[in-house]
Amino acid sequence: MTATVAVHGLFLGGSEVEAADGRTFPVIDPATGEPIAEVADAGAEDARAALAAAHAAAPGWASTPPRVRSRILRRAFELVTERAEEFAALITAEMGKTLTDSRGEVAYGASFLEWFAEEAVRIGGRNAVAPSGFGAISVVQEPVGLCYAITPWNFPLAMITRKVGPALAAGNTMIVKPAEATPLTALLMARVLTEAGLPPGVLSVLPCQNPTAVSDTVFADPWLRKLTFTGSTAVGRMLLARAADGVLRTSMELGGNAPLLVFEDADLDVAVDGAMAAKMRNGGQACTAANRFLVHNSVRAEFVDRLTARIEALRVGAGADPGSEVGPMITERQRAAVHTLVSAALADGAVLRTGGTPLPGNGFFYAPTVLDEVPADSRIVSEEIFGPVAAIRGFDTEDEALAAANATDYGLAAYLFTTDFARVQRVSAALQAGMVGVNRGLISDAAAPFGGIKASGLGSEGGSEGLHEYLNTKYVALPKY
Ligand code: NAD
Repeated sequence: MTATVAVHGLFLGGSEVEAADGRTFPVIDPATGEPIAEVADAGAEDARAALAAAHAAAPGWASTPPRVRSRILRRAFELVTERAEEFAALITAEMGKTLTDSRGEVAYGASFLEWFAEEAVRIGGRNAVAPSGFGAISVVQEPVGLCYAITPWNFPLAMITRKVGPALAAGNTMIVKPAEATPLTALLMARVLTEAGLPPGVLSVLPCQNPTAVSDTVFADPWLRKLTFTGSTAVGRMLLARAADGVLRTSMELGGNAPLLVFEDADLDVAVDGAMAAKMRNGGQACTAANRFLVHNSVRAEFVDRLTARIEALRVGAGADPGSEVGPMITERQRAAVHTLVSAALADGAVLRTGGTPLPGNGFFYAPTVLDEVPADSRIVSEEIFGPVAAIRGFDTEDEALAAANATDYGLAAYLFTTDFARVQRVSAALQAGMVGVNRGLISDAAAPFGGIKASGLGSEGGSEGLHEYLNTKYVALPKY
């Protein structure tokens, strides 16, 4: 195995370079537990070099015409699309998801480059005569400045393009610290952006095994203006406190605990398809994954039977195997955390319909699982599962379903299945979530604002809202002529 291990550098100043102290760390294939690459391990000195490169590039990039910035992003979109198979294979190799899921992620990730290429030329402003008659009010949008992006492993491309796309479209520089498990896709994306014409220094990618040295150095830079983070709520809270020290702009995409509501009038074919998509995509390792299934008691037995049959039939295996429908968990630790939640639910009285065990072998595979009659106070209900486990319980009234759906600190996604249009309006208004899927289990779209409320975060990614997260508003008071 070791003979085929590739070695990668940091992405700094427009090319891959070794870490200043020459250290590297391994990237592990979750399907085998074996290393597939060694990557330069960035430290404080590398972070200082990335900061210097960003400072040098910032004035030129901010004054580059939006049309030129747009063309570079558009070209990057085309290159990612042309090289979709290479990206998909890399995502599968380092993150484990199936090739089908990886291809989906490449299309989704690339769509942010396309969307923000289109948005780059629509950075507006406004001009108005002051109502007092005394002069004019001119409002302009300017790049916020240097941005620091910290990203998770579950979507190694899309979680980065969702930040890099709008940051570059708006004329900012950016330093990306990718998740330690998935640095390879981030590095390939940076190389592609450079090939598309991005000037050196505008974007750096600093993989590191331990984020402390890089983060401490970047946070200490007085020119840092924005933190954009996607990851767990626990880490997000800690980073928000650090951002407060520098009074940084923040975009925080944090954990989720999505309810999926199936009402008695739902089309069960649609609901089961939606449930499969909302639960099993990415092996359940998605922030928008359905975490709590709430099903009307009059249809629960049928829904559970049908969902169990579909989940039981899923083929679990290495993501690179074309027959696989569910890949491994990212790490042994993640698999153990999922198993602990399942075991606790069973001890609390949940009924196991299928799965419930880690699978043998070297990879970090977990049997797709269905639990019914999960007690409301079980940890699996209040915590994010992040694995292929459907936790189901019943309800009798709409009010009861809504109270259960909203009984969480989180507020990212929610799903509802019903054929009653009035109920769609009532329930989607009452759900405490940043995003609501109606009769569908997949909701992500580069043209829509993605984001959560409550402990799921601050701000939006995608849509026209996503660009404004990277722009400052300046008011210029013009004199009366
Ligand atoms: P995580 O919070 O453990 O790590 C996220 C990133 O933060 C990684 O790059 C990690 O290295 C970094 N990090 C951790 N500690 C740090 C520190 N002290 N200083 C600086 N950086 C630090 O999350 P994860 O396990 O990589 O990802 C899973 C989580 O991400 C889940 O909770 C999931 O819901 C969330 N997520 C949210 C969204 C969203 O859009 N809301 C999308 C994807 C994932």
